[in-house]
Amino acid sequence: MISVEEALAEILSHVEPLAPERVPILDALGRVLLEEVISEIDIPPFDNSAMDGYAVRAADVAEARPGSPVRLAVTGSVAAGSVAGEDLNPGTAIRIMTGAPMPWGADAVVPYEDTSDFDRPKEERLAVPAKQIEVREAIQQGDHVRPAGEDIGQGEQVMAPGRVIRPQEIGVLASLGHETVLVHRRPKVAILATGDELLEVHEPLAPGKIRNSNEYTNAALVTRTGGIPIRLGIARDTKADLAAKIRHGLAQGADLFLTSGGVSVGDYDVVKDVLDAEGQMQFWQVCMKPGKPLAFGLLRGGVPLVGLPGNPVSAMVSFEQFVRPAILKMLGHKELDKPVVRAVVDEPLTNSGRRGFLRVVVTRQAGVYHARTTGEQGSGVLTSMAKANGLAIVPEGMRHVEAGSEVVVQMLDWPEGMGA
Ligand code: AMP
Ligand code: MG
Repeated sequence: MISVEEALAEILSHVEPLAPERVPILDALGRVLLEEVISEIDIPPFDNSAMDGYAVRAADVAEARPGSPVRLAVTGSVAAGSVAGEDLNPGTAIRIMTGAPMPWGADAVVPYEDTSDFDRPKEERLAVPAKQIEVREAIQQGDHVRPAGEDIGQGEQVMAPGRVIRPQEIGVLASLGHETVLVHRRPKVAILATGDELLEVHEPLAPGKIRNSNEYTNAALVTRTGGIPIRLGIARDTKADLAAKIRHGLAQGADLFLTSGGVSVGDYDVVKDVLDAEGQMQFWQVCMKPGKPLAFGLLRGGVPLVGLPGNPVSAMVSFEQFVRPAILKMLGHKELDKPVVRAVVDEPLTNSGRRGFLRVVVTRQAGVYHARTTGEQGSGVLTSMAKANGLAIVPEGMRHVEAGSEVVVQMLDWPEGMGA
């Protein structure tokens, strides 16, 4: 039996970041950039107004005060998307909208609110544009002007390889005119459930049978982690059926294989045998609870196979510890750990002596994280995961955790479900 760290290190030593592919920017969400992004342009491309108001020369309104306004003649108007038809002459103003380019000769914008125009209802302002305005506040050169290149300068490196693409990076790429971007390709993850007792979701229950939930949990976990699930359905508990379905998955170009069930010491647990026949097992059994009977090996051709335990909670906990980091590494991520918090446990915990992963609800009370178990912790009780937002980690060898002491909790959802 090896430790969680040893198991993870072994698995990660057999996966590498996958090849680059160029994708439409929206398909890059959550993925890792593989190229340098250098701007060929200034953003914004031109000096423009940050406010709706009047473009002026700051010097012309230097003496303006609420009690003694400065009067300027209005010579035109410029909206976002167009260019002023005339230059700004001294002693005049041009109406300007947010985002419109600054007229030549103007060096500042007086917001509407600081002019006599503000006193007029909008309909009237639109129907009868002011020929003249009073400016009630002095302003400085550059006030309410967004200079060209304020955001990004031409020639600037905007993103380096390794950057994780979030919605804001996608927006920046769009503003630079990039329709596509180079990222690591997503891993195809083959998912196979094993068990003679398993029924498809749509099938009615029959004596001795249960529905196959692991396939769905696993497919959703793969998708959420950024992989592409290839669902291979159910293999029956025979070496022949399992081997055939594994070959079918390999033929579909799987980068990683997940099985569930069949890795214990039962009479019909054939995953390890098939793994040895179709490749080579690297380890079996990890010092953790739930999740002890995990098996890992390499199929012929080097495709890694993680044999997850059959119990639905064990399968999920093991996925989070071992499969998620492997998929993230394939996607090029450097940060592979789930976020953790230190929380005070509000009830005593008992543990097997192996590393324990207890399903808990973490809340924040007066700035302190508190954790409570979700009740029955059996590894078949999948609703214990459904109720949880974290896994409290109890170290090896520790059989009791007293109420009021602190534990590390791996957050399953962050920050969702954190409460107030
Ligand atoms: P095994 O390791 O194959 O003996 O499975 C352990 C437990 O997990 C048994 O109670 C199985 O019925 C259950 N199990 C195995 N595979 C699945 C699955 N795909 N969906 C739901 N439960 C499963
Ligand atoms: Mg089984």
